[in-house]
Amino acid sequence: MNPDLQATDPAIADLVAAEERRQAETVKLIPSENYVSPAVLAATGTVLTNKYSEGYPGRRYYEGQQVIDPLEELASRRARELFGADHANVQPYSGSPANLAAYMALAEPGDTIMGMALPMGGHLTHGWSVSATGKWFNPVRYGVRRDTGRIDMDEVRELALAERPKLIFCGGTAIPRTIDFPAFAEIAREAGSVLVADIAHIAGLIAGGAHPSPVGHAEVITTTTHKTLRGPRGAMILSDEAHAKAVDKAVFPGLQGGPHNHTTAAIAVALHEAAQPSFADYAAQVVRNAVVLAEALAERGFDLVSGGTDNHLILIDLTPKGVAGKPAAKALDRAGLETNYNTVPYDPRKPFDPSGLRIGTPAITTRGMGEAEMRQIAAWMDEVVTALAGSDEDAAEKVIDRVHHEVRELTTRFPVPA
Ligand SMILES: *Cc1c(COP(=O)(O)O)cnc(C)c1O
Repeated sequence: MNPDLQATDPAIADLVAAEERRQAETVKLIPSENYVSPAVLAATGTVLTNKYSEGYPGRRYYEGQQVIDPLEELASRRARELFGADHANVQPYSGSPANLAAYMALAEPGDTIMGMALPMGGHLTHGWSVSATGKWFNPVRYGVRRDTGRIDMDEVRELALAERPKLIFCGGTAIPRTIDFPAFAEIAREAGSVLVADIAHIAGLIAGGAHPSPVGHAEVITTTTHKTLRGPRGAMILSDEAHAKAVDKAVFPGLQGGPHNHTTAAIAVALHEAAQPSFADYAAQVVRNAVVLAEALAERGFDLVSGGTDNHLILIDLTPKGVAGKPAAKALDRAGLETNYNTVPYDPRKPFDPSGLRIGTPAITTRGMGEAEMRQIAAWMDEVVTALAGSDEDAAEKVIDRVHHEVRELTTRFPVPA
């Protein structure tokens, strides 16, 4: 624990310590989360937070950029090299602002834009109605096929050719299958649209060679840095040369003020880590673990959207288990298994009380868990969900307590990076 924080503000220091303990003792199955390395964490807690640097390297609105300019250039170069992109903007505050910048760079308010519907696996910022992107633009949305649970590329083509959107978003938050970037690119070309690939969830898999890259297919690529990429909370926009200027102008001065330089430093560290051969091993193991976990769940009667997974993420329709997503997620959390409830495609239930559960393997793989642990986790999930579906509440609580005990024991063998 940090002694300065403890001395100045024990209330916050205690909360941080409690969260550290909670993270150590739980099995984190939320697919958008991870654990950063001590080096990434250290970079976020530096004096770089004290500096304003509106603008870009060599073109700033504040003096004193002797250190920040090379820092941002290094982060940007590492991003370009890791992903093979022409251009990288490392300033977006997070994934949602990065997506807003893509709109600002490529469209005018009121223009037609296209993305995957939120309940089908898209993100709020891909034009969902409650989001600014759904209010300020004219969104059209595609989904997945009812029979396969996979993106309906015929629907994407028909919709794109009928609506001619300014931009088409591909990527999402609950897509368990490989995204076909070349197919999206061909449709975008036919429709005269710019293809934006939002790789927030899978950036680390792409960097590690465990998912095909959108570079060369999507003109603009947005991503968070804190999911599979295992960096600090932040975002980047990669683009081809033709869109570089528009992207930069959209981020600053279009949407943001000063970049968060301590975050830029931590992004640079994460990119350096992701360029090491060991990160490719990590990315491959994330996928291997997800496949094993999916198979073990399917063997226990769990209904997986699309039948399984190609990446880090598994979407479970709990309907056949006789339990809804929210009570299941809450019971699992009490057992030390952290998940999130989620809509499944064509969900008959409400978004705040949906049928599904979304899980993934990026965080547990970072802790070094492997295939044996995946089978154990599937068994625990089955025990908790089956107990919850039964009518005996006391018996269910006993199961949850016992699993919690066993989960705690497992987590002591796989420490969080520190
Ligand atoms: C997480 C995510 C975002 C948003 O990122 P925030 O940092 O939470 O704003 C955008 N798009 C996709 C596909 C995501 O998974």
